[in-house]
Amino acid sequence: MAYVIDVQGFKSYGNKFIFKEVALISLTEKVPSVYLFKPHHAFMRHSPTNRASVRWLENNYHRLKWSRGDIDYSELDITLLRALRDAQSVYVKGADKVQWLRKYSSEIIDLETVGCPALNKLRRLPACAHHSLIIDAECAVSNVLALKQWINDVLLTRRVPTE
Ligand SMILES: [Zn+2]
Repeated sequence: MAYVIDVQGFKSYGNKFIFKEVALISLTEKVPSVYLFKPHHAFMRHSPTNRASVRWLENNYHRLKWSRGDIDYSELDITLLRALRDAQSVYVKGADKVQWLRKYSSEIIDLETVGCPALNKLRRLPACAHHSLIIDAECAVSNVLALKQWINDVLLTRRVPTE
């Protein structure tokens, strides 16, 4: 199976990336799987600089609250390993995301290396209900749907057909 995956999150101490919203979809499915992880740690345990960065992301970028989530953070690894267990290729956009997701699959392809346009040029769909404002938010669900469409319509049609 080939999958597209996107992740939104925060930075914590030591510049560690903290997952919040993850969406993934196989290239042949219509509906993505979506996971919202509970906070990695209490908000007050952030450094003052990281608190400011968390608030900025909450208010201006992905509009996901640090405090929200349905799945314990301790379930992150098993959740993603299970979701990608039959993955033969995993499409991800951007070097940072490739880095954060590398431990979950050895078959990652960075869409930025194959000419994929900027997400804000591809996205046409509304964000999902996780975000405090539905419009104008970076959303993993919207991103995987847009990327899936680009892969199917553009990237895979470039290949020479085999018989
Ligand atoms: Zn979302």
